[in-house]
Amino acid sequence: MSVASPTILDSTTAAARLDAVRQTIAAACLKSGRSPEGVSLLAVSKTFPIEAVDAVAAAGQRAFGENYAQEGVQKAIVRLPLEWHFIGPLQSNKTRGIAEHFAWVHSIDRLKIAERLSAQRPVNLPPLQVCVQVNIDGEATKSGCAPSEALALCQAIAALPQLQLRGLMAIPEPTSDTSTQRRNFAALRILRDTINDADASLNLDTLSMGMSDDLESAIIEGATIVRVGSAIFGPRTYTNTSATEL
Ligand SMILES: *Cc1c(COP(=O)(O)O)cnc(C)c1O
Repeated sequence: MSVASPTILDSTTAAARLDAVRQTIAAACLKSGRSPEGVSLLAVSKTFPIEAVDAVAAAGQRAFGENYAQEGVQKAIVRLPLEWHFIGPLQSNKTRGIAEHFAWVHSIDRLKIAERLSAQRPVNLPPLQVCVQVNIDGEATKSGCAPSEALALCQAIAALPQLQLRGLMAIPEPTSDTSTQRRNFAALRILRDTINDADASLNLDTLSMGMSDDLESAIIEGATIVRVGSAIFGPRTYTNTSATEL
């Protein structure tokens, strides 16, 4: 794998960072009157080598997130006991490896991808857990369906046999302004509630939102999965693999 990593994460550092992130999660839960059990931590290992995943896994983390299909499948295949979540843009010619080796896909923004994942999901595995990615703040360059399309897409996905629709995911434009962070995350929560009200059979229980720099705002606004990369693994160095796959 042509991923540059200046230093391999050691298990002591991994454990300390994981602990710090868990404390941030606990503090945000306390502040917002939520139970910490209601928030799961996804460790985003994109661009980091398998040794770094192992260090974080040794500290007790089981769920890992990947953005690039090829890199993610390579890692999942060698560490099948871990729980792998795909969180990046997905092209239709890259769905098979994800359908075969991942537990979750957070980044579904069109029906065609969902149909392929369902068709390619091996029947001996539990259904693939999926979220619809929504472009919640209207960023033109961003992936994700428009909020107005989310209900119809959710209903179509819910009908697919090998997928289990769990909720919504968003990646709002990064900002240090906490009121903007909270407004975007609140918009995703409200959309989730609106969809559940419109079609109670969907029963969406998941809000995948919040990353290293905005996870506190996300938790206050109802995140059930936070996706944390650099706060656990350290700063990323992007190389050719990642850039071309994007
Ligand atoms: C990279 C990435 C993350 C993690 O970002 P950090 O800022 O490193 O925590 C979370 N979600 C998605 C979709 C990402 O691409």
